[in-house]
Amino acid sequence: MAAPLAADVVIVGGGVAGGLLALELRDLGASVTVVDAASPAGLSSASAISYGALPGWPLAPTPLARLAAGASRRWRRLQGRHGDLGWRPCRLRLHSGGTGLRALSAWWPLPFAQVDSAVLAARLPLVLAAAGVTCQAARVERLDPQPTAGWALHLSDGSSLQASKLVLAAGAHCRELWPALPSCLRSSWAAVLELASYPTLLGRPAAWLPVSFGRAGLERRAAGLSQPEWLVDGGLVPWADGALLGQHTLVRPGLELGPAPLPAEVEHQLRQGLAAQAWGAPLGALPGQLRQAAVAFCSEGVPLVGPLAEAPGLWAFTGFSAGFSQVPVLAPLVAQALVSAGDLADAATRRLQQLGLGRLDQLGG
Ligand SMILES: Cc1cc2nc3c(=O)[nH]c(=O)nc-3n(C[C@H](O)[C@H](O)[C@H](O)COP(=O)(O)OP(=O)(O)OC[C@H]3O[C@@H](n4cnc5c(N)ncnc54)[C@H](O)[C@@H]3O)c2cc1C
Repeated sequence: MAAPLAADVVIVGGGVAGGLLALELRDLGASVTVVDAASPAGLSSASAISYGALPGWPLAPTPLARLAAGASRRWRRLQGRHGDLGWRPCRLRLHSGGTGLRALSAWWPLPFAQVDSAVLAARLPLVLAAAGVTCQAARVERLDPQPTAGWALHLSDGSSLQASKLVLAAGAHCRELWPALPSCLRSSWAAVLELASYPTLLGRPAAWLPVSFGRAGLERRAAGLSQPEWLVDGGLVPWADGALLGQHTLVRPGLELGPAPLPAEVEHQLRQGLAAQAWGAPLGALPGQLRQAAVAFCSEGVPLVGPLAEAPGLWAFTGFSAGFSQVPVLAPLVAQALVSAGDLADAATRRLQQLGLGRLDQLGG
C-alpha cells in the first residue's frame, strides 16, 4: 500500500531552522509536516541550549551578515503574530578574558537582544500546532527518492510518509540522512552548564560574551584537523530562571559526527577552562548541570541553504553559524523559493543567490 501523502512540504527537524521555516510556509498557505525525533536522554538539540544571542550589527562584511543583523525585527514580527517565542532586549557585557572580572568588563551600548532558548523550546511546538503545522514525533531513519518524483521517508515508529518537497533541517544529523551533502557541512559537539539561578556576583542579568569566540576559529580550521580539538569559550546568558554558562566545543576531523564525548570529561574540561580565564574563574565552580548537543556548521561560514542539484525535491536548510540571526531572515526567502510560483519564486531564488546561498552544486561535494 502506498504511504500517505503528508503535505506540500515535509521538514525533517523541529529546531529553530525547521520550526521557523514551517511557520513561513504556513503563511504562504502550504501544508507542512515537521518530523522531529526527541533527542536521546542526556542530549539536547542545538537550538534548545543555544545562547540565542542576537547582535544588532553585522558580524562579517557580507550581505548575509548585514541581513542577519536585522534579525530582531523578524523575531518581533513573529512574536506579534504567534505570541512569546523568547525574544527580548538584553543588556550586553563584553569581556576579553585577559584580566579580572570587574576591571575588564565594560558596558557596551551596542544594539543587542536575546532569544531565551528555554522559552523557545517550550513554546515552539504549541505555536506550530496553532499555525496548522502537522508535527510528528519520530526519527526519520531513511529517505528514498521515488521513481517518478518525490520522496518516501521511513520513520522510527514503523510508518512512512511521502513528500513532493523535502527539507533537511536536522542540524548535525543531516548527513546521516543524505551522506552526499557538500563537504563544507560539518558537525561538532557543544556543551554548556545550566545554572539554576543567575549568579549574584554578576549583578543585574545581562549576556556576558567574549569579544571573540574561539569556537568560530576552530570551525574555520575544521577541514584541516588531523586530531580532535576542543576549547572552552567563557560566556554566560540568562536562560529561563537561571543561566547558561561557558561553551565547550569539540570538533573531530572528517565529516562524521561520532558519539557524544563523555559528560564527566567534558564537564571537567569546561570547568577547568573557565577557571583558567580571569573572567570565568569565579564562576567555574558554581553548581550546574551539563547539557550537550550536536551542532552543524559550515567550515566556510556560509550555511547550506537551497535545493540539492542531484536530488530533485530535496532541500537543505542547515549549517548555520548563528542560527538565531540567520534563520529568521532566510526562512521567508526559502519558503517563497520552495512553494511560490513564477516570479515570486524566481525573485526569492535570486535574492538567496545574492546572499551567496542556494548554489549547493558549486560547493565541495
Ligand atoms: C552552546 C551554544 C550556543 C550558541 N549560541 C548561539 C548564539 O548566541 N546565537 C546564535 O545565533 N546561534 C548560537 N548557536 C548556534 C545555534 O544554536 C544553531 O545555529 C541553531 O540552533 C541550529 O538550529 P537547527 O534547527 O539547524 O538545528 P538543531 O537545533 O540541532 O535542530 C535539529 C533538529 O533535528 C532533529 N533531528 C535530527 N535528526 C533527525 C532525524 N533523523 N529525524 C527527525 N528529527 C531529527 C533533532 O531532534 C533536532 O530537534 C549556539 C549553539 C550552541 C550549541
